[in-house]
Amino acid sequence: MRILLAEDDDAIRRDVSQALEMAGYVVDSEANGEEAWFLGDTETYAAAILDLGLPGMDGLSVLKRWRKAGRNFPVLVLTARGAWTERVEGIDAGADDYLPKPFRMEEMLARLRAILRRSGGQANPVIRIGEAELDTRQMRLSIGGVPLSLSPQEYRLVAYLMHHQGRVVSQQELSEHLQSVHFERESNAIEVLVGRVRRKLPVPLIETRRGFGYIVEQTADSP
Ligand code: CA
Repeated sequence: MRILLAEDDDAIRRDVSQALEMAGYVVDSEANGEEAWFLGDTETYAAAILDLGLPGMDGLSVLKRWRKAGRNFPVLVLTARGAWTERVEGIDAGADDYLPKPFRMEEMLARLRAILRRSGGQANPVIRIGEAELDTRQMRLSIGGVPLSLSPQEYRLVAYLMHHQGRVVSQQELSEHLQSVHFERESNAIEVLVGRVRRKLPVPLIETRRGFGYIVEQTADSP
């Protein structure tokens, strides 16, 4: 899943990017508010992590402009310690959650997972579809209780489709969510990736809708 990070403090930006990448996310990071606003307005993100004190355009204005333009991806706002007015303003402006600085990376990741789950309509950190079980805390997919060995990119593909179970997801959307803006987009990269994942899966989890994209069907027992 692709995450936009807007933070002008170099050390925090580097640490948060690193933590996100290690957790399997694709990250676009920006230090300037106006650049971040532009990326959020024109690219597709699963979520954004937004510092409020940014040069170029402050975080609250960035968030308000996204929401006004109908950009509804979940946003986790980073606020200065003790600044309760920032938290109130952030939530009023359309933030889904906030995190006061300084924070631990574990907490940032947990809050991010929570807003991602809520936006995907999933309240549980474990998503079950038939025999498939996706543990979003451990970044692991198991089939019939047996964990599969997936690369980060393969995991992201399955995770995205399972988060959006029951909906056809186009190759375009997948490619936008799985690759960062600074990454060359090969035209058949998604097909190749889906093929690789299917060979590892002992069950037919991912179906092709020719000309439209891919779908993970909901089953009767999934939530
Ligand atoms: Ca700042």
